[in-house]
Amino acid sequence: MSFITDLECVSCGRRFFPGELDYTCPDCGPLLGTCKVNYDYDAVQQKLTRANIAARRNYTHWRYMPILPIERPDYIQPLAVGWTPVYPAKKLAEEWDLGALWIKDDGRNPSASLKDRASSIAIVKALEKGAGAVAAASTGNAASSWSAFTALAGLPTYIFVPENAPRAKVAQLLLYGATVIKVKGTYDQAFDLCCQAAEKWGWYNRSTAINPYLGEGKKTAALEICEQLKWNTPDYVFVSVGDGCIYQGMWKGFRDFYRIGLIDKLPKMIGVQASGSAPLVQAWEAGADRCEPLVPHTVADSIAVGVPRDQIKALKAAKESEGKFIAVSDEEILEAISILARRAGVLAEPAGATALAGLRRMANQGSLGANASALVMVTGHGLKDIDGVLKAVEQEPITVLPSLEAVEEGLSET
Ligand SMILES: *Cc1c(COP(=O)(O)O)cnc(C)c1O
Ligand SMILES: [Zn+2]
Repeated sequence: MSFITDLECVSCGRRFFPGELDYTCPDCGPLLGTCKVNYDYDAVQQKLTRANIAARRNYTHWRYMPILPIERPDYIQPLAVGWTPVYPAKKLAEEWDLGALWIKDDGRNPSASLKDRASSIAIVKALEKGAGAVAAASTGNAASSWSAFTALAGLPTYIFVPENAPRAKVAQLLLYGATVIKVKGTYDQAFDLCCQAAEKWGWYNRSTAINPYLGEGKKTAALEICEQLKWNTPDYVFVSVGDGCIYQGMWKGFRDFYRIGLIDKLPKMIGVQASGSAPLVQAWEAGADRCEPLVPHTVADSIAVGVPRDQIKALKAAKESEGKFIAVSDEEILEAISILARRAGVLAEPAGATALAGLRRMANQGSLGANASALVMVTGHGLKDIDGVLKAVEQEPITVLPSLEAVEEGLSET
């Protein structure tokens, strides 16, 4: 049914039949042996033209089905994923000397983060495999997204989150009916524990990067950008980065559409990390092909990652796209939340605003070039992490007795 030809190890190039391998290359291991999904691009090209895409009435990411890894479309769950809005931000573009600026709001997905793009694919793969139970490790969003889809499919779900996962994300998990295991430790420790448990008990594992199909879901954000911007790709795409799966997946999306001739220019991919959690920035600046592990500290919980699991593909994507990784401070992230809210009307969680903080920094340094065009991904909604976004708030509400005099007095004091 799908046009997949093989899964290819990014380190050694070994190729696997799609049914032969669920996760990573056994020769290279879980960190180095992440696999790329290859398609019969000639066949895909016949099915996906600008004209026939425009005629599709399905306004979800399934409109790009011929370039997605789905064998059994009947396993697709009904939640509407993708086709999130792209907003022009004209005044901000002027202020920052850009030719154009767009903001794509992926907080507008069913569980309020970009992760739904990957989960909607992973649930199909889990059902195709006949999984009896499933698992994921997550800082919060991947798990809450996964749990929505696994609830619909009726699969028992085991979730490993770090102890400090934001309350709203944990609330989502519990309401969707997952069994939540809070690990007294970091996300990186929760990740390793989840992989061990999934192997021991035979659970299908949606943890990021090791599962080759997740990036194929995340790439749909890039496919939509191509179509929504009328096939004129921006010069720069800014993405916040933890494990690097969104970043590399979106690059794969642009590459896929370039390969079948739907776009004729590729963007430079700028990956933005929090300065207290920036192993990819360090590796990039050192010219290394791997990251040094670290213990992350940042207000942006979704990108608090010390061992980026998709580091090999992410570093390759930066090189191939002539992009780079940059770091921004927590303070800049909080300022970006407020700029997004006031200037674009978009409420983002800290990691959701991190890409904008990166753009602002590069624009202020004048390093984007005159008249450049840029698109910023907002990856998660602000209500996902109330304690986080409250840190960006500077003013207090005016509390009054219910009388007009009290309102007048209250207003006069501000
Ligand atoms: C997961 C996530 C990211 C980072 O994605 P990676 O694939 O881990 O790099 C960024 N922002 C939000 C809101 C996320 O949930
Ligand atoms: Zn390999």
